[in-house]
Amino acid sequence: MHASLPIKHESRIESSNNAASFVGSAHNHGPYQEDYFLATVIDIDRITPSMVRAVFSITEGERLVASGHPDEWVRIAFQPDPETPLTLPTRLENGKWGRPDGSKHCPNRPYTIRYWQPSSSEMTVDFVVHDGGVASTWAINARIGDVVGICNPEGRFWLPENSEWMLLMGDITALPAISRILEEKPESMPAIAHIEIPATADRQDLDHVLNSDLTWHEWDELSSAGRTDLAAIVRMITSLPAGPGYIYIAGEATAVSECRKHFRDVLGFDKQRIATLGYWIEGQARV
Ligand SMILES: Cc1cc2nc3c(=O)[nH]c(=O)nc-3n(C[C@H](O)[C@H](O)[C@H](O)COP(=O)(O)OP(=O)(O)OC[C@H]3O[C@@H](n4cnc5c(N)ncnc54)[C@H](O)[C@@H]3O)c2cc1C
Repeated sequence: MHASLPIKHESRIESSNNAASFVGSAHNHGPYQEDYFLATVIDIDRITPSMVRAVFSITEGERLVASGHPDEWVRIAFQPDPETPLTLPTRLENGKWGRPDGSKHCPNRPYTIRYWQPSSSEMTVDFVVHDGGVASTWAINARIGDVVGICNPEGRFWLPENSEWMLLMGDITALPAISRILEEKPESMPAIAHIEIPATADRQDLDHVLNSDLTWHEWDELSSAGRTDLAAIVRMITSLPAGPGYIYIAGEATAVSECRKHFRDVLGFDKQRIATLGYWIEGQARV
């Protein structure tokens, strides 16, 4: 069921995170620290039909503060138009961030950090390709040397103490987050994952993850980008493992909300142990 893909080898994430750091009753990291960086494309590759992988070199990346969450994301800022340069907020004398030069706010979108290597300040981000959208269009046309802006990462996934299992569910936009969570989870923690992808060719190799039960849900139609069946897929889940667990759902906002309702109302799962992230909204651009 897990197809091997010709994905170029990436070393395992090297960061301040470790498997145990996102398990527990309290978030053991400091408050979010606002900061901005320039990121230059050093590698770009269409790793599967629906996914473009960009590797960025982060300028002054030694300042970047990892969030400690395995689903961490950054907002990526893009040049507003060909005539307007990419600009970032700067730190003002009062310590706040602003645009004293009156520069224009750049369009930006949240993307998961698939890999972060602090020793070389290299960050890997996987972009789903779809029609329209500043981020998707940028990714399709990106070239080595292109520059975007990023901010310090933030994240959400946090395994409650005493969890005995985790269930991860998402459409292809959540594949980077789910992959990282699976790779960084404690090996002894059983994980169930349901990932919706446009076609078999969009599978990624997660065979190396121990103690996981992964199901790919495929449309077998690459043109399906922009649609999701997550709300129907969740109805196929009719029972959950025994004991306290944790459910993490990310993808199209309405579908994610339907999934949450299913686990809470149909399967009677504790809503406090469900994390939901609406990643994108069908028919609506993010702002
Ligand atoms: C925390 C977080 C992490 C995320 N991580 C990733 C990630 O690692 N990889 C990733 O690809 N996405 C990720 N996303 C989703 C991504 O931010 C959105 O898909 C975003 O809207 C894309 O921006 P855009 O400029 O291409 O399209 P927009 O300008 O936002 O939208 C333009 C049109 O495209 C549609 N659209 C938007 N996204 C999709 C999509 N994925 N498929 C089909 N149609 C779409 C919209 O409905 C709209 O009609 C993440 C979102 C969040 C909140």
